[in-house]
Amino acid sequence: MDSSASHPLVRTRFAPSPTGALHLGNVRVAVFNWLFARSKGGRFILRFEDTDVERNQAGSEEAIMEDLLWLGLEWNEGPDRGGEGAPYRQSEALERYGEAARSLVEAGKAFPCYCTEEELARDRTVESSGAAVHRYSGRCRGLTEVERRRLEAERGVPAIRFQVPDAEVAIDDAVRGEVRFPQEDLSDFVILRPDGRPTYNFAVVVDDVRMAVTHVIRGSGHLSNTPKQLLLFRALSASPPTFAHLPTVLGPEGGRLSKREGSAAVAELRKEGVHPEAVVNYTSLLGWSPPSGEEVLTVEELIRTMDLDRVGASDTMYDPEKLRWMSGQHIARMSLEELVEALRPFVDFGRFTQLGGNLPGAVEAIRTRLRTFAEVNEHLCLLYPESGVELVDARRTVREDDGMRAVVEHVSRRLQEVDPWDAKQLGQALRDAGKEVGAKGPGLFHPLRLALSGERSGPDVSKVLAALGREEALARLQKALEA
Ligand code: GLU
Repeated sequence: MDSSASHPLVRTRFAPSPTGALHLGNVRVAVFNWLFARSKGGRFILRFEDTDVERNQAGSEEAIMEDLLWLGLEWNEGPDRGGEGAPYRQSEALERYGEAARSLVEAGKAFPCYCTEEELARDRTVESSGAAVHRYSGRCRGLTEVERRRLEAERGVPAIRFQVPDAEVAIDDAVRGEVRFPQEDLSDFVILRPDGRPTYNFAVVVDDVRMAVTHVIRGSGHLSNTPKQLLLFRALSASPPTFAHLPTVLGPEGGRLSKREGSAAVAELRKEGVHPEAVVNYTSLLGWSPPSGEEVLTVEELIRTMDLDRVGASDTMYDPEKLRWMSGQHIARMSLEELVEALRPFVDFGRFTQLGGNLPGAVEAIRTRLRTFAEVNEHLCLLYPESGVELVDARRTVREDDGMRAVVEHVSRRLQEVDPWDAKQLGQALRDAGKEVGAKGPGLFHPLRLALSGERSGPDVSKVLAALGREEALARLQKALEA
């Protein structure tokens, strides 16, 4: 049976403040929202929470969008493409917050507050859940119209304060189950400042209502905002979304992963050539686990299997090594053509002039060693060594060792006959030559690698030979035999 008719379309949002570039912590939130919307055939919204003008950073919106697109997390609605919930920048929606606040005042659910700084400072501070909580006295709650007019004449435009109903608040979190918030933690809070700017919690709720957001998936740091937001949804007669608070991501050194963690900046990962799909895959595992236990998943597979019911509440830790390993796994799954194209911007062509038109051959030789795209140059060095001294030493070692010398001599001769010069034919010729000269495994490959690149280990020798081409490969072997 098609149940889509009875369920509203899933709408999730990613709502960063444009105060800096993306890091893995907020990418994880974007990934969960994006995957969840995709998996339900829903829509993913990008919204900028930019009302804290002093903290906004020029260029940050563009950087965030660029990073999201690099990761393939395309949004259906957002500041650059509009949509039913426009505007998608809070700074462009100031009128909406004003209207919503006034409607709450008219309904008796909020009130103008004329309290001075000094009066507020005298209000009670109570201890709750180990933290000092400031409680509003309720001074302006019951003002008459006459009193309001008098205070307005004396003190100017008031703030608007939400009148918190007298009851405990509980949410049914999709990750944590029922979470209760004691009443004493809440007292009437400001929703609109005298200058017309909304406070954070109010702006979020007004936006989530007008954008018809059905699921709010975000970091556990926002859990403490949720009771206020839930009360606001109710006061605005809107049905609250499903909340899902993801576990905290700890940095490699312990402690909450922060923007300052350089290794976690998306721009850095991009520069390093970490496979973008691996970033999506890796961050999806920061809190969620796939039912199959198989961790390396394509985005398509993630969309098919991701759901909120397998999200756990316990802290998770960002492990930069595992991310790089996973990137290697995604690179291993690319076709040679895709990989060559992905590597092209990273290859230092100026340094590897011998590369010529043979990038695919060289990539074939080194591809199993790549964890990131940027590592390509360090592996190309194995094919095209530049450090003359080490190579000269390595070749002398071969020349002065009878066994090694015999292997290189024999293989060289055998290779003259290989046609066509490809990895398959070369592999066969190496095996034959090895048998003839009585060498296999390291006994066969060490001398060849030393002669070719000066290193004892490295990519598959037949692939190295193929990548170098007949002339260059034979010339290198020859150099090891002649002083
Ligand atoms: N702007 C908030 C942040 O960057 C997100 C708010 C929310 O998800 O409700 O953390």
